[in-house]
Amino acid sequence: MITKCPGQDTQFWGPDDIYSAECPNCGNWVEFFKDDIRRRCKKCGHMFINPRLNLGCARWCQYADQCVGVMGKEEFKEIIVAGMKGFYGDDKAEIDQALNVLGFAEEIMEKENGHPQVVIAAATLYAIGIDESGKKARKGEPPDREKFPVVRDILERSGAKEEVIEEVCRILEGHENPGKEDTVNSRIVHDAYQLCRRKKESEGENKADVKKSIHGRFLTATGKEMAESFAL
Ligand SMILES: [Zn+2]
Repeated sequence: MITKCPGQDTQFWGPDDIYSAECPNCGNWVEFFKDDIRRRCKKCGHMFINPRLNLGCARWCQYADQCVGVMGKEEFKEIIVAGMKGFYGDDKAEIDQALNVLGFAEEIMEKENGHPQVVIAAATLYAIGIDESGKKARKGEPPDREKFPVVRDILERSGAKEEVIEEVCRILEGHENPGKEDTVNSRIVHDAYQLCRRKKESEGENKADVKKSIHGRFLTATGKEMAESFAL
């Protein structure tokens, strides 16, 4: 009888399953086991996410709850953000923009509710989704469920359930087909992205123009309220 998930049993591990990663804070090398979610740097004390973490097995494994446990919101967010940063690499502007959209989405979610995993993932990966759908459209490929391979890969590695992944993809698709997906989650993410854009545009614009341009752009009361505060 198997009492432990075979993927997590170290006797089945190969030489690539233990490796070192550079601490993003001080550059010290920290050893990771492939199933560590995060480790603390011994030199500076910074706690950071395993850059090669892959919880894909937890999506179907019957032992998932025993080895991965029930993932908290903060942990999930950290994994998604690490995936987004991995995709952008040194592109600080794109990373900052994604973090801004995420910040706005979390703020709106406090008042409008919404599904935390869906909102966090869709907000953080929104710009990657726009980029991916643009590429496909240019190539003239029809939309399909593999439309967002990078987004899907990041989500699968986070251990997200299939229904969460599907909903995130539908929200990203909604950027080009507004109104197709209309849920509290899609509205929050839409407004968070609009807030990020309005914030950028409002720097340098006069306040009256900002106020005018808010009209009709927002789908949640909280999002509209936040946008109006930029015009004050
Ligand atoms: Zn460190």
